[in-house]
Amino acid sequence: MSLIVQKFGGTSVANTERIFNVADIVTKTYEKGNDVVVVVSAQGDTTDEFIEKANEINPNASKREMDMLLSAGEQISASLLAMAIEKLGFPVVSLLGWQAGFSTSSTYGSARIKRVTPDRIRKEIDKKNIVIVTGFQGVNKYDDMTTLGRGGSDTSAVAIAAVMHADLCQIFTDVEGVFTADPRKVPKARKLDVISYDEMLELATLGAQVLNNRSVEMAKKYNIELEVLSSLTRVPGTIVKEESKMEKMLISGIAKDNDVARISIIGVPDKPGLAFRIFSKLAAKKVNVDVILQSVGRDSTKDISFTVPQSMMQDAIHVCNSFVEVNGAMHVVYDENVSKVSIVGAGMETHPGVAATMFESLFDADINIQMISTSEIKISVLIARDDADKAVTAIHNKFFGED
Ligand code: ADP
Ligand code: ASP
Ligand code: MG
Repeated sequence: MSLIVQKFGGTSVANTERIFNVADIVTKTYEKGNDVVVVVSAQGDTTDEFIEKANEINPNASKREMDMLLSAGEQISASLLAMAIEKLGFPVVSLLGWQAGFSTSSTYGSARIKRVTPDRIRKEIDKKNIVIVTGFQGVNKYDDMTTLGRGGSDTSAVAIAAVMHADLCQIFTDVEGVFTADPRKVPKARKLDVISYDEMLELATLGAQVLNNRSVEMAKKYNIELEVLSSLTRVPGTIVKEESKMEKMLISGIAKDNDVARISIIGVPDKPGLAFRIFSKLAAKKVNVDVILQSVGRDSTKDISFTVPQSMMQDAIHVCNSFVEVNGAMHVVYDENVSKVSIVGAGMETHPGVAATMFESLFDADINIQMISTSEIKISVLIARDDADKAVTAIHNKFFGED
């Protein structure tokens, strides 16, 4: 007998019909003799709607109360799914994050899972119950509800699979797997049969929302094989697993991230120690800096540019303005209308010319590159936001052909 963890995203449980569709998938899995733990997200756009509602009442609401609100979304879908499964005549119980043993750090809104103590889940499985657990939530040391950050239900599912040594962890969503680009934006995108943890981690971190990056990190750490598949079409999806067992793909996918802003400090004196001063101040303010570019010194000054998530832009500008005053740089400029477009592939380590091919496709599409950053398995460019979708399509056509 196997233990199977099945996670269903918001679209998969969006309405009554979809809930019964999920109940059917779950009970069929159970009927085959498996133990089943189900993790659910909030229905449809519930989480966004809750955030809007909160903003109407108090845009400065405390993060604690926000978590109290947001965690309710998953409670609704868990109970409704349990009712549907009851109706089909199967034994079932739904559990909140804390009942399922999720202890988290105390950072409301982006808590990290510290421990999962699945005693209650085990007890319910021993009673032959199908167990439904609310994703995206846990409890902190103050006994308060916490949430794991947007898209966090994927991580809840992988955490349960890891701690319970599940035989399979299936992430059901609204597309048939992981594609070479977002299939909603690039209709010619192809479904991948298999992708390595490292490539998936890069794609997720660089903006492919299909899996939360922390869930991939955890799956890699505990060697949990994932299957990403559609709850609607019931065809095999994409397997995410360790790379050694498969051939390296030159490029596995293209991702776009709009949550980025570019900041430049112009006219920084060209002497040692100044980059250190800026970036240590940014680090002290907990600003996540991503791509960094420094120009070659000319006329004893240089420019330093970097990117940050949009939510951290104001803090970063503040740090840079005081740096300019103290160190005699010229001024700070910033641009929020930028996107980061990246290609990811383990094969590029051993194939020269991948960057050139990517840049050629951007040149052909008349798209200007503002910044570039590379690692062994990815190349990212920063470009104008208006060009981003065009860039993804152009790069996709270049690497994967037009049909
Ligand atoms: P869920 O609610 O099931 O967690 P998400 O909306 O978080 O679903 O993630 C699924 C979405 O991710 C898809 O609808 C798709 O538009 C988007 N997506 C972005 N990049 C990719 C990709 N490379 N492959 C598949 N889907 C992608
Ligand atoms: N409901 C949460 C969100 O919308 C968690 C999730 O869907 O994974 O971000
Ligand atoms: Mg998601």
